[in-house]
Amino acid sequence: MEILRLPVLDDNYVFLLFDPATKTAAVVDPAVHAPVLEALADRDATLVTIFNTHHHGDHVGANAKLRAQFPDVEIYASEADRGRIPGQTVALNEGDRVSFAGYEAEVFFVPGHTRGHIAYYFAPQANPAGNLETGDLETGELFCGDTLFAGGCGRLFEGTPAQMLDSLSKFRSLPDSTRVWCAHEYTESNLRFALTVDGKNRALSDRAIAVRAMRSRGESTVPSTIGLEKETNPFMRWDDLAIQALLETSDPVRAFAKLRGRKDMF
Ligand SMILES: [Zn+2]
Repeated sequence: MEILRLPVLDDNYVFLLFDPATKTAAVVDPAVHAPVLEALADRDATLVTIFNTHHHGDHVGANAKLRAQFPDVEIYASEADRGRIPGQTVALNEGDRVSFAGYEAEVFFVPGHTRGHIAYYFAPQANPAGNLETGDLETGELFCGDTLFAGGCGRLFEGTPAQMLDSLSKFRSLPDSTRVWCAHEYTESNLRFALTVDGKNRALSDRAIAVRAMRSRGESTVPSTIGLEKETNPFMRWDDLAIQALLETSDPVRAFAKLRGRKDMF
């Protein structure tokens, strides 16, 4: 399986999963249709699946147009988002399994940014066709929408700090090598904030320097990895003693709420 990153709008990423063996594709959170259709045409691919993480327009905006072009496309989204996802055909809950081209993903229910947010996790697995030299998923692949960002997390539009902490805890237990495909390029400003609450973290300051250089060259900082986020993202470090001391609380939910509040004002 190949994963393509399509930069769209101001700072969104649409991800296209392409299986060369079957010439089929899936798309994660299609904000707009034109670049998706172009990428499909370039590969002579048929779109069979849309994976939506949540109902916001910059994640579902192209569902209808893509469905018009590919009437058999399956549109996966959260059970809790029923009625808010254009063309939804399958409603998903925590622990459900979905597949694309024989590759299997697990669904995590991760409310916080919105009340119905879900994420899709492909654990490392062999190429299901088994007869190609490439196509194995050697690392896990996490499509997490607007829940976890590189260096940050989504705003709490419909959920509580306790819910978001619980959602991010699910990601924290994934293997460190898991790649994090988040839906926006927010990393540079996220890390500027992170330095205000975790400035003595050497891994964080090194990352901030590297990311600034990458962005000045116009490079993408996505995907990240779970390991890097656990080391440098304050929203994955609510139990870090230095951060808790700065926030004057040892309660994880209070620490997380204070962090999110500071970021909202940043
Ligand atoms: Zn959103």
